Amino acid sequence: MMSPGDVQVVVLMGGLGTRLKDITKECPKSLVDVCGRPFFDHQLELLTAWGFRKFVFLIGYRADMIEEHYGDGSTYGITINYSYDGEKLLGTGGAVRRAMDLLEDDFLLMYGDSFMDIDYAETLYRYERGKAEGAKALMTVLRNANRFDKSNVVMDGDRIALYDKHNPTQEMDHIDYGVCMYEKQLFESYAEDEAFDIAEIQHELSVKGQMVAQKVTKRFYEIGSPGSLAEFSEYVRKRFDESHPAVFVDRDGVINEIVWNDDIEQLDSPMKVSQLKLLPDVAEAIKTIKEKGYYVFVVTNQPGAAKGKTDLKTLYDINTHMIDLLEDQGAEIDDLFMCPHYPREFPQTKEKFLIKKCGCRKPEPGLIYRAMRKYNIDLSESYMIGDSCSDVLAGAAVGLSTVFIGEVKCDLCKRLGDISADYIARDLKEAAEIISPAE
Ligand SMILES: [Mg+2]
Repeated sequence: MMSPGDVQVVVLMGGLGTRLKDITKECPKSLVDVCGRPFFDHQLELLTAWGFRKFVFLIGYRADMIEEHYGDGSTYGITINYSYDGEKLLGTGGAVRRAMDLLEDDFLLMYGDSFMDIDYAETLYRYERGKAEGAKALMTVLRNANRFDKSNVVMDGDRIALYDKHNPTQEMDHIDYGVCMYEKQLFESYAEDEAFDIAEIQHELSVKGQMVAQKVTKRFYEIGSPGSLAEFSEYVRKRFDESHPAVFVDRDGVINEIVWNDDIEQLDSPMKVSQLKLLPDVAEAIKTIKEKGYYVFVVTNQPGAAKGKTDLKTLYDINTHMIDLLEDQGAEIDDLFMCPHYPREFPQTKEKFLIKKCGCRKPEPGLIYRAMRKYNIDLSESYMIGDSCSDVLAGAAVGLSTVFIGEVKCDLCKRLGDISADYIARDLKEAAEIISPAE
């Protein structure tokens, strides 16, 4: 398995930022001040938290300022190499081609003026899996319906069936999100000083069926215009400067139904996208919690792939589908944290990298810690809601108030030992009514 520490991140930073006028007269877009820090520092922090360490910055306009600020990367615990745009404007593709000598065989490419908070472990997994099936690139896409800009992508299962930013069609319902992965050799057929847009490569790959998709569920932010810069600044202030209480919600049995599994003849988590059914009133309950001022984070153990009952791709797909279904009903999840691990191997286990004694499988509180690293959470006012004792234990381990969903039976009381849930509720709707912000 590719891990972030091994994967090179290439960042397009050469743009002129003409729509920002006065702000970028003195400074390149990536360094525009957002809440007291240069814009790209916010994105870099996300990337280093995922474990990325190797960067190539493609710089042009005010390259000197970018190099002076980031240097060799050592103050960020990373290494940075620089590739310089020449006199001639080369476009995104030309800028990557120009950096050829610095590039590794596979790399992740993104823009230096966008904030993209996605599951990068999923990106690497899907890319590697796609390559094994003949793909040469990965594109992240967002279900769009012309929300942000014109939709430009048609999906076909895990593949991009068509990407065309110049000729939108009726069938297009997704938009390219801005994070991609490529094989370096895709750029080798272009001449060194040829100007071209990466969209050309993307279009061609989509037509050939050689680009896999990662469907992401959180909107991106960019700072291309004064309006979008103000919007992102407000987002950063709320997310990183202010602390907010959070409600951590278990998934199976709380948000969606557990289903009968014929193979093991007992109730189990959904192992296929088609098995995912939301429980009644869940979207309303999430809306209620959000209206009370809480973040809603889903924290879920999903050992199904580690046990060989399904694969990790399907587990990701199920989560994405759940988020889509909730969104259709106007309920937005702030983030989702999944533990796909299991401590021991089964005879039918295929994805053996999922076998480990981790710190994220509840009752361990690792998923909650992961959320704490990403958001400014007021733990003393936060809750954990779940239908098993491991949920209650994980919440109690970090001092959350706990709400148990269901009936507490005696065997459960024994397993919990000294720890008991603070509240008991029938379902998420009742739990949503129990939780309340401090006066
Ligand atoms: Mg559960």
